[in-house]
Amino acid sequence: MAETPVIDVRNVIKDFPSEAGVFRALHGVSMRVMQGELLSIVGPSGSGKSTLMNIIGCLDSLTEGQYLFDGRDISAFEEAELAHLRNGSLGFVFQQFNLLPRLSARQNVGLPLVYSGRSRAERDAKAEELLGLVGLAGKERSRPMQLSGGQQQRVAIARALANDPRLLLADEPTGALDTKTGREVLDMVRRLNRERGVTAIIVTHDPGVAASTDRVVRIHDGRITYDGPPTAEALAGAGRQVAADETPA
Ligand code: ADP
Ligand code: MG
Repeated sequence: MAETPVIDVRNVIKDFPSEAGVFRALHGVSMRVMQGELLSIVGPSGSGKSTLMNIIGCLDSLTEGQYLFDGRDISAFEEAELAHLRNGSLGFVFQQFNLLPRLSARQNVGLPLVYSGRSRAERDAKAEELLGLVGLAGKERSRPMQLSGGQQQRVAIARALANDPRLLLADEPTGALDTKTGREVLDMVRRLNRERGVTAIIVTHDPGVAASTDRVVRIHDGRITYDGPPTAEALAGAGRQVAADETPA
């Protein structure tokens, strides 16, 4: 039997209604992501990258089409089941880190474990392990303000990994960092992918970031226009066209 994709998005349409009428942000997007993949989503500002990520992350609903997570159609899920899926199976990383300023690095990383009912000792132990994994051993007690941007993003990545998610979703994770720091953060995600098998989807503007992932999905005006290896052409935005009804493996 063929392996079940972690993500299976089928002909997804997303409309945003407004007073001026309906704005269609996604026009029938299909993509599959298998366990262990490291892929980037690229495309101009306003092309629908975050809209797609929000649907994949179960943060927003789709208008038409289908979304299977681990083979399960999530359109049938109640809000509580979606919250459980988000907290237990998905790890989120955002451009602005979104750390709680009054909490230490260790407390920030342990926060998702509060929601999954783990004890203080378990949370601290897991947070320390993860901070070590992202190269921040010794910074457990630091508050976000006492850390550099790159270090804060590492804390955010450690937090995203707290519940051993099936999937790490990062929307412009290097967008608030200088190029060098951004590359370091990305190298870390790559290492997590290679060494721990973390499946990751990264939205990025940076062709250098996209080039270091294994697969690039390009979106333009709400349609996937390329899905394949990070060739120079693809990164320049001139890749092979993918038909709307083609579901790339
Ligand atoms: P990207 O992340 O690629 O920059 P987005 O997915 O954020 O793009 O947005 C895609 C398009 O959908 C944009 O034209 C944006 O203005 C529109 N859009 C996104 N979210 C909303 C919303 N909540 N309401 C109305 N329009 C939205
Ligand atoms: Mg965006």
